[in-house]
Amino acid sequence: MAEVTTVTGMILSAMPVGEYDRRLVILTKELGKITVFAKGARKPNSALIGVTRSFIFGTFDVYRGRDSYTMYKASAREYFESVVNDLNAVCYACYFAEIADYYGRENLDASEMINVLYITLKALGKKLISYELIRYIYEIRMIAVNGECPDFFTCSRCGSEKELSEYSFSRNGMFCRNCAGEVHDGVRLSGSAVYTLQYIVTSQLTKLYSFTVTVEVERELGMIVNRLEKHVFDKEFKSREMLNLTI
Ligand SMILES: [Zn+2]
Repeated sequence: MAEVTTVTGMILSAMPVGEYDRRLVILTKELGKITVFAKGARKPNSALIGVTRSFIFGTFDVYRGRDSYTMYKASAREYFESVVNDLNAVCYACYFAEIADYYGRENLDASEMINVLYITLKALGKKLISYELIRYIYEIRMIAVNGECPDFFTCSRCGSEKELSEYSFSRNGMFCRNCAGEVHDGVRLSGSAVYTLQYIVTSQLTKLYSFTVTVEVERELGMIVNRLEKHVFDKEFKSREMLNLTI
């Protein structure tokens, strides 16, 4: 029998296949993003039936086949029930998982992404801040974790760290007050919005969702994130459409 490996991670998606099986995509600390077949997981008496759903975080015993992995055992540590029981939150969680899926690769260390996703689903479940603000924070941080975030600390033109006041869509960078005249497709940002962007990319994960912002700053963040998405992601996310319906 093939060697069993124990991995820790989060199930990003679970699709029914065949008569009783599920095909899972799991983001793992040890193996990066892997596809795993859970055989018989949809049979009512299967030990895998309750632990092979989307967003379950836990440890999974898998063994490698020719093209994919097969699940041998699963042990859930977190079900995110308050997310799963709220349709609107589920729509956001699906979108967040799809972004993680987009960045994940087999054998690419996914520890940081798993941590970000984990605390983001926790924040969705707690409902202390708006789902839209959670989306903005999550997207910016995930883009930063994957090295694609613009520098929110310095002016793209002169390098100044002071009086940053504009984000340029075409240059995908910040501009200071002195250089802002060069920007023709900019989004003007308040000092609070600039500070919030800087906080999101550098904050400890435990403090990432510990703040709220004014309606105005949330609107500014939204403008940045919606533009940043177009710059960074080279695909349309299916689950994004669901959000537009629910906002
Ligand atoms: Zn400048």
